[in-house]
Amino acid sequence: MSYDGRISACCGDFELVLEMGNLEENRILEIWNNRKYKELRKKLVQKKGEETKCRGCVNLYDYDPTIKLKLRETAKIINSELRSIKRMR
Ligand code: SF4
Repeated sequence: MSYDGRISACCGDFELVLEMGNLEENRILEIWNNRKYKELRKKLVQKKGEETKCRGCVNLYDYDPTIKLKLRETAKIINSELRSIKRMR
């Protein structure tokens, strides 16, 4: 929550990109249950975070095992390439 009552969905959202409402205008439960907040939660649960303003957040992929797998595979390829380069020297 910001100093002026604006609520963000994210604790790291200092610019309030994920602003969901304002406590000056609505109660916390009204904000929690508003259309904007529900749509964000729905997209995150459906693993469609890339379609939201969470796009690019490192935490977005914490819950997606396929992304971690892809990163691991990429790391293996890079390490293999580095070993090949070292052998050529
Ligand atoms: S996915 Fe990232 S940007 Fe979105 S609410 Fe979570 S921590 Fe914040």
